[in-house]
Amino acid sequence: MAQLPSKSLSLLKRFLTPNKPYHAQWLLTRRCNYRCRSCDVWREQEDLKELSTDQVKLGLDILRKLGVAELVLSGGNPLLRDDIDEIIEYASRFFITTVYDNGSMAVRKIDALRNADFVAISLDTLDEKKNDYMKGVPGAWRKAMQAIQTLQEEGIFVGVSPTISRLNMHEIIDFTTYFIHHGIPVWYCLYWYDCPIKNQLFTIGKKSNELEITDRKAMVDICDKLVELKREHPRIFITNKTLSALRHFFLNGQRTWKCTALQGFLMVDHLGRVAGCHLRKPVVSLFELLDVWDSPRFERLRKEYSECTRCAYLCYIFYSLYSTIPTNMGIIRDQRKNIEWLLTEVVRT
Ligand code: SF4
Ligand code: SF4
Repeated sequence: MAQLPSKSLSLLKRFLTPNKPYHAQWLLTRRCNYRCRSCDVWREQEDLKELSTDQVKLGLDILRKLGVAELVLSGGNPLLRDDIDEIIEYASRFFITTVYDNGSMAVRKIDALRNADFVAISLDTLDEKKNDYMKGVPGAWRKAMQAIQTLQEEGIFVGVSPTISRLNMHEIIDFTTYFIHHGIPVWYCLYWYDCPIKNQLFTIGKKSNELEITDRKAMVDICDKLVELKREHPRIFITNKTLSALRHFFLNGQRTWKCTALQGFLMVDHLGRVAGCHLRKPVVSLFELLDVWDSPRFERLRKEYSECTRCAYLCYIFYSLYSTIPTNMGIIRDQRKNIEWLLTEVVRT
């Protein structure tokens, strides 16, 4: 974990400053070496331009000034960038930095990943054949399992990140149990798809009947079982409040959250454009973001997004539930055991 003591004060200050976007995701590249059935990134590879290293660093400075505390670097596969070591090192000086990998690159980029706070390896099931089918690449399961083991042995904070879908939902509790018993934290994505919007920031979620969750009762059971499992086992990185929101959503279609896109969180794409979420149109260049954050135009956009019910991507639900100072304190309460464990690990390493 990079420089935790030196950045913790600055992070605390940002977490305690109101009306700031605490969370940001930077989709650093559209390049990807996988062919996931749930994803449109690899199907749309026309627009492969990317920002330079210096531009990314400048953008990170702007996000920090804006108040962002927690940053996710993803794509595409961000580890395909040649300069990813420099980007992770710089980002992790200022942000709680999570880097996503599909399992194919982490071992090769292990030195770069030593600077990240968390590394999330996406893996959907313990069934090798099914996983490779879902990822569209033979050998994906073996590489991901190898990456998890190697990173854990090297003392890097690695977690496994399954996308819960129709294809794996009935095994998600066994999957979780397996990894937490091996000392690997689990954090979840939820299969969702993009309702096409003209000029959306970044196309990701592909609609698929094979993946769409229709057994709502089974999802409610999963939420209940995860709450139960959390009582006994830390290392499950989803809060009870998020599980409760999901439970309501699947039980009766009600949302217990209002979307805080462009308020509690924002997205940046590979070209440095900013949007409330990846489904919305880019609204400003990252390099002009500080000038417009408090503008009436942004206030209008926030209002519009807060009424939006177009998606239920799990990360956006989480960001929306945790976008104020009191709710941020709720994360600390919910994840107290994991925080204690992480701090113990920091001292140990
Ligand atoms: S889901 Fe991630 S790993 Fe899979 S194709 Fe899309 S960007 Fe690549
Ligand atoms: S609900 Fe929020 S995150 Fe989802 S599409 Fe609407 S504005 Fe975007």
